[in-house]
Amino acid sequence: MEPHLKVVSFSKKRPQTQKQEADATVYMNFMKSHCCYDAIPTSCKLVIFDTTLQVKKAFFALVANGLRAAPLWDNKSQRFVGMLTITDFINILHCYYKSPLVQMYELENHKIETWRDVYLQCASRFLISISPEASLFEAIYSLLKHKIHRLPVIDPVSGNVLHILTHKRILKFLHIFGKRVPKPAFVWKQIQELGIGTFRDIAVVRQTQTLQDALSIFVDRRVSALPVVDEEGKVVSLYSRFDVINLAAQKTYNNLDMTMEEASRRRMCFIEGVIKCYPDETLDTVIDRIVKAEVHRLVLVDRADIVRGIISLSDLLQAMVLTPAEINFEKSELEAGN
Ligand code: ADP
Ligand code: ADP
Ligand code: AMP
Repeated sequence: MEPHLKVVSFSKKRPQTQKQEADATVYMNFMKSHCCYDAIPTSCKLVIFDTTLQVKKAFFALVANGLRAAPLWDNKSQRFVGMLTITDFINILHCYYKSPLVQMYELENHKIETWRDVYLQCASRFLISISPEASLFEAIYSLLKHKIHRLPVIDPVSGNVLHILTHKRILKFLHIFGKRVPKPAFVWKQIQELGIGTFRDIAVVRQTQTLQDALSIFVDRRVSALPVVDEEGKVVSLYSRFDVINLAAQKTYNNLDMTMEEASRRRMCFIEGVIKCYPDETLDTVIDRIVKAEVHRLVLVDRADIVRGIISLSDLLQAMVLTPAEINFEKSELEAGN
């Protein structure tokens, strides 16, 4: 009887332990077993800028093509040297804007290469890219390590850019093709219990502050979006780096003195209301909401709509994919508001 009892107790314990291990690593394994090529759409629009193009024309071209970023080609060295994103547009405006009455000579005349000479003096100037055969795990690692939002997939044979991967695309891929993967136990836990996201020193902008103030916060805190709040700290809208492209689309970048209330109202293409979540909602609910809304973050609020945190796609991919691999990219002091 004794040995038999022992066997029973073993067979009860072992599958449970194995299940727990599989649970925690299921998304990590999914990302390791799919390559970047798998997540690329069958066709997409891609624009490449020569670094001798004028910066202003480049941003107008992004708007005209409905794009958020473009790889930069240096004809002299015959290679890609970087990316042009909306963050660069913000940096240019922040650097050269003085008042609505003073024209920004630099924005009107600078070529992309001139701007890069000024801006990248001490920063590295190379393109961070990935091969189509690399795993999605490696893509997430690169996006989070370098704290960037655009990762070009480059064919090593032809040297062509095939696609620009983003956190959004990767999480959507998991959401669609990971349906057969059993959901790990931690997705049923509450966000406040898991501690996924940023919960202190949230960078916000008051609706009475100016657009110039908002651009300064984007530059100083290096955050991708600002909850716009009223005088009580309640969130009334969300202004993301993406929204700044409206200034190029509407040619209103010469007036950064408008209030955030006006800037938010003037946007042409934006999401009505704020996509939020509450601390007692589960991770599963949060993932579902962020994927369906196709936004880069949710604003965490209490029942009075006071901003309590931000849960961005970087936080989710860190927790779901990199933490199980024991890789942790610390938040920078700037993000933490120190
Ligand atoms: P955005 O959120 O505006 O799309 P990012 O956060 O990705 O932009 O960009 C931040 C900065 O890093 C910008 O100056 C951009 O040009 C640069 N950058 C973005 N992606 C890459 C990349 N793959 N390689 C090199 N630099 C990049
Ligand atoms: P990107 O695709 O460049 O990452 P974002 O997701 O930051 O862009 O923003 C795309 C649009 O969605 C912007 O107009 C932005 O204001 C809006 N948006 C992003 N997050 C939210 C949110 N949580 N609530 C409401 N609108 C949002
Ligand atoms: P993102 O650039 O949105 O992918 O986010 C990078 C990190 O910054 C994540 O840990 C976010 O939670 C955090 N973050 C994003 N927006 C803000 C903000 N407005 N205030 C403070 N932290 C933020």
